Amino acid sequence: MLQEPETTARLAAAIASLHSEDAPNDVLPSELAVTHARAKLQQHLSSSGLGLEETLKHIREDLVPGFNASSRSPNYYGFITGGSTPAASLADNLVTAYDQNVQVHLPQETIATNLEDRALSMLCELLKLDPASWPHRTFTTGATTSNILGLACGREHAIAEASAVRIDVTASVGEIGIFEAMHRAGIDKMQILTTMAHSSLSKAASILGMGRASVKSVGLESTPHRFDMALLKKLLEQPGTASIVAISASEVNTGLFATSGLKEMTEIRRLCDMYGAWIHVDAAFGIMGRLLTSPEHSKIMEACEGLELADSITGDGHKLLNVPYDCGFFFSRHREIASRVFQNPNAAYLSGGGNPDNIMSPLNIGLENSRRLRALPVYASLTAYGSDGYREMLERQISLSRGIAEYVLDSEDFELLPKFEGEKKEALDTIYIIVLFKAKDEGLNKALVQKIKAKRKIYVSGTAWEGKPACRFAVSNWMTDVKRDLPLIKRILGEVVDEWKKET
Ligand SMILES: *Cc1c(COP(=O)(O)O)cnc(C)c1O
Repeated sequence: MLQEPETTARLAAAIASLHSEDAPNDVLPSELAVTHARAKLQQHLSSSGLGLEETLKHIREDLVPGFNASSRSPNYYGFITGGSTPAASLADNLVTAYDQNVQVHLPQETIATNLEDRALSMLCELLKLDPASWPHRTFTTGATTSNILGLACGREHAIAEASAVRIDVTASVGEIGIFEAMHRAGIDKMQILTTMAHSSLSKAASILGMGRASVKSVGLESTPHRFDMALLKKLLEQPGTASIVAISASEVNTGLFATSGLKEMTEIRRLCDMYGAWIHVDAAFGIMGRLLTSPEHSKIMEACEGLELADSITGDGHKLLNVPYDCGFFFSRHREIASRVFQNPNAAYLSGGGNPDNIMSPLNIGLENSRRLRALPVYASLTAYGSDGYREMLERQISLSRGIAEYVLDSEDFELLPKFEGEKKEALDTIYIIVLFKAKDEGLNKALVQKIKAKRKIYVSGTAWEGKPACRFAVSNWMTDVKRDLPLIKRILGEVVDEWKKET
């Protein structure tokens, strides 16, 4: 066994070497390196074991060359991967070393649950949400899980609201199941009304027995990320229907926000209260927009206004918060709904002591029972950098994104998406951390993502927009440096175009 100080020193050294001043040269290993590494994976369990030193050597020398640089390179712009701050990286390794199970609140025995609660409360403060108004808060494995929690709470609430009208008592899905509860409530349909939702929302609807088909788009024809308020109202008022309204607070392809300010959020809140609907906000990466304070970000700040009127919010830790995978978070304003949905019933051995501090046992407010101390990297990173540190990280990321968007707008060869009629400045003002674009030449456009990736210096994701291939930068790494990264991006995009023109 390694001794603890030695482990910690080794970890610190290893992490420091990952975050060296020079960004790694290549964001992707060569195909050959990947093939080699794959061939070296152990094919079968060995009976005697290789031993610790041999195994570490095997991982470092054989396998790591086949990994991509998603967290280690600021030039990895695919999938909103985020990075991992040095404080979060070190803390994450300590989580393993101390292996706390954050399940039952036992304040006399460990501070693990207090630490988790502090981390969540600091996170609320970072995001300008009053911790006292968000008593149901927990860390999850990611935004997908947070969306499952949000829809589960929404389902419980919306059916109970309908039953209160009809039978004058609460029909709890958690207690009697979705079929019986809907029957008693006189409901024959559940719908999730949204605009350009992330695919994980449909997955959550499927897992929770509402079905993917219950997710309905109520976007405007011209700007599909925005709510058609008349249609929203019409669908909410249908008799025999229970509803959840899901707000995409920054859409994953374009970075655009579903709502535009406090006025619109207030109107959605009013409609939902009228029809007993629950508001869930999927703000996996958009929620960080609430940190912004400068006038150049006013469009984003407005779009983040009023999110505090929602019933529940999804956020991701492993994206813009820049803590390692797996980390998401979930906030809800309704503590009693949490226990109706997630309570472990009749498990006396799992009950905590009396808790005057008001901290609920995590196992009664989320999916898992046994859990990792996922809170520590968040706690460490928030403590180390504070709200100013996080704001400054995000400002650099937005600045790089706007630099890329400006280059695309000025270029003869590329086109910014969605198409924007108007002043360049107006277009740039809406850019958050995502830049969606295509090549004007359809031939180049089909091959664009592959050609960029083949250079292995920057990584982008491919997607589709209006039936055609499109390319997407998602800037999400704390190391982002506009002066260093923008020239590289321009050079690679320029080279890809030049080579294409020579080929054709
Ligand atoms: C990334 C993302 C998700 C899914 O998050 P995971 O952390 O991958 O589970 C959900 N919604 C939005 C808006 C996202 O950007």
